[in-house]
Formats: sequence, structure tokens, C-alpha cells
Amino acid sequence: GLDVAEKLARALGANIREEVVHAVEGVDIAIRQGEVFGLVGESGCGKSTLGRVLAGILPPTDGELLWRGRDVAGLSRADRLEMRLAVQMIFQDPMSSLNPRKRVIDLIGEAPRVHGLVRAGEVDDYVASLMQRVGLDPAYRRRYPHQFSGGQRQRIGIARALAVRPKLIVCDESVSALDVSIQAQVINLFMDLREELDLTYLFISHDLGVVKHISDRVGIMYLGRVVETAGADDFFAAPNHPYTVALLKELPSVKDRRRDFTPIRGEIPSPLDPPPGCAFHPRCPRAMPVCSADLPALKPVAAAHWSACHLNDMPALRPASETAA
Ligand code: SF4
Ligand code: MG
Repeated sequence: GLDVAEKLARALGANIREEVVHAVEGVDIAIRQGEVFGLVGESGCGKSTLGRVLAGILPPTDGELLWRGRDVAGLSRADRLEMRLAVQMIFQDPMSSLNPRKRVIDLIGEAPRVHGLVRAGEVDDYVASLMQRVGLDPAYRRRYPHQFSGGQRQRIGIARALAVRPKLIVCDESVSALDVSIQAQVINLFMDLREELDLTYLFISHDLGVVKHISDRVGIMYLGRVVETAGADDFFAAPNHPYTVALLKELPSVKDRRRDFTPIRGEIPSPLDPPPGCAFHPRCPRAMPVCSADLPALKPVAAAHWSACHLNDMPALRPASETAA
């Protein structure tokens, strides 16, 4: 819960920037302003759910969600609305998240007009400038989503998110459905916008290759829990958790990185009925008797590096990093 998250924040040092969002029982992630936090896991591991909780779309089932240090459950309506606008999500399939019967000008311009961020008479110019900013021709603002390509629709989704002046953008597999070349363009756009607008990203993906490319910090989820989190450099140089080590071994080369990683031995158990103890134990090459009995807690293993594995309690066995190579 919160204890671990607080310790995590402390472990990261006093001079960290303002924490934007922070949360979820048993998950314990804290995202700091201006960073890209890459959240990785196989499909069905709960990372989309976590993204929705962090975006304020779903309430946390237990535990707390803190927004700028305050519990979201106790926010006033006005503050909650502010958070809802400040956190925007971009989904995998813009076709299903964009109303097909609305023109681009309304898709992008409606929310800022309704929330009083722009006056009715200025919506047209506002939308045009946003379209330009994301690389779309404003001349097309009266068109419908189906009249654009997949990559262009994703840009419409980005412009729509930007229209309400967000602080945190939750990208849920936002580039996964795009061709590799388009993927790179959209990622570059995300990174440019981050610089210009001081945006923070939670970048949810099954694609460790993409996450490696863009993240300042990384979290790995397995069946609803974060099992390891660390600064990106440390994470890739010295992974601790056996699941992470297995994922890194499976990290495809750049040329075929669209391949999903699944070849870790064994089936992924249902997240609704996870195995007892460490949920990874049926697939873990280093599992011990304690692993099926006790849930390992997320504990610090190095500076700003946390892992949930019983091996860390056994100095003689030590963590997995020596098996990474
Ligand atoms: Fe493997 Fe046990 Fe560590 Fe889980 S706690 S990752 S089963 S060694
Ligand atoms: Mg998902």
C-alpha cells in the first residue's frame, strides 16, 4: 500500500519533482512530473486497468490513488473534474475511441468549449492550431474519423487529449496497432510534445522494445501486481526479478519487435484466479517452496529499484541479475 509507495518516493530522493499521480494497493507506482513511466506486461496482466484507475476512470478497488499528494476519493467535485481533464488517455484503437458520427472539429473542440477553456468563437482556430501541432492538415477539420488513416486517427486522438491541457497522458498500447514506421513518428510526436508542454506520460505497453526506447522509469506487471520498478538504465542493466529477466531474454531485436513476447514457459494463469504466493511461481525457473506459500513484497534492492521476489531475502541465492546475461 501507501507505505511502500512513500518509501519508494523517499528512496528516489528529496529533490524529485512533484509527484503527479501515485497508486493502487499492491501496485505502488509513483509517476513524477515530466517523466515517461513505461508500464510493461503481458496482455491481461492488469496494466490497462491500472491505467484507467490512474486516469480516474475507474475507482481503485482498495488502496489509495493520490493526485498531487491528495487522496482522490476525498477531492471536491471541482478538483476531481480538474484531475479528469489533467489526465487524458490515448487508446490503442482510435476508431473505437472516436465517435464516428462526429467531425474532427467537434471531436477535438467540444471538451475545451464545454469546460470553458476556449470561447465558442475561438474553437475553430483552437482546433486548427492543435491539428497543426500534431501534424494534421487543419483544412480537414470538417471530415469524419473514417476519412483518415490509422496513424492520422491516432493524431486526432492526441489533439483531442491536448485540447483540455492535460498534465499526464496515459498511453494504453497507443502505438501497438500502427505500422512500425508510423509507430516511430507517433512516438516522436509524443516526445516532442513532452518537451514543449512539460507533459508526463504513463506509457502502457506489452512492447518492452518501445518502452526501453522512451522511458525514464519502468514498471513490470504480472497478474495485477507490479513486480519490479526501477530507473530505466538500472532496469535494463541489472534486472532483478526472474520474470523481468525472462522478458529481457525474450526482447526481440529491433527488426521484429512487433512480435508479442510469450515464450516464457507455461501458460499465463488467469488474472482473476492468480496462483497463491508469488503468482509467477508456476513459470519461474527459480521457484522455491516459499514461493507458492507467501506473496513476496515489493522491496528495495538498489537505489530507486524495487522488486518483489523471495530470492532477495536470501543473500546466498541473491537476485536474478547474474542470470540475466
Ligand atoms: Fe520466482 Fe519465487 Fe522470486 Fe516468485 S518469489 S519470482 S517464484 S523466485
Ligand atoms: Mg490492455
